[in-house]
Amino acid sequence: MRPAGPHDARDSSRSTWTRRNGQVVLLGTQCPQCGNLAFPGRDFCDRCLTEMSNNSVEIRPTGVVYSCSSVHVAPAGFKVPYQIGYVDLSSGVRVLAQLQGGASKARLAPGDAVTADAGQIRTEPDGTKVESYVFRVMKDESQ
Ligand SMILES: [Zn+2]
Repeated sequence: MRPAGPHDARDSSRSTWTRRNGQVVLLGTQCPQCGNLAFPGRDFCDRCLTEMSNNSVEIRPTGVVYSCSSVHVAPAGFKVPYQIGYVDLSSGVRVLAQLQGGASKARLAPGDAVTADAGQIRTEPDGTKVESYVFRVMKDESQ
């Protein structure tokens, strides 16, 4: 399996995530002037236009599903149906990603608490599995 490369990111050539000690770490940028966080990282702050390209930060990958949808028609390589959704991270950043449920809940819904994890998002024509960050239900703390 290979990680989704820079060409998979919408507006940036920088890495959007990495893995440390088995945990997914989301990589964004933070404005040194106003503190605004961006994910994926941006060269300039969308609030005050200050350059933020050299101010990389790790963004805590936990949040709540804001909205979601099931995809039934997709480009080649994606196994349908799958869920995508916006997740509001605890830092205030809203992220679009695949939602892949978890052991206790196959389909996610708005309001579900989730955390980022690595997961296969598609398969290339040669069979190579491509992975990226996805969001899954957070483990039940009571168990
Ligand atoms: Zn700013």
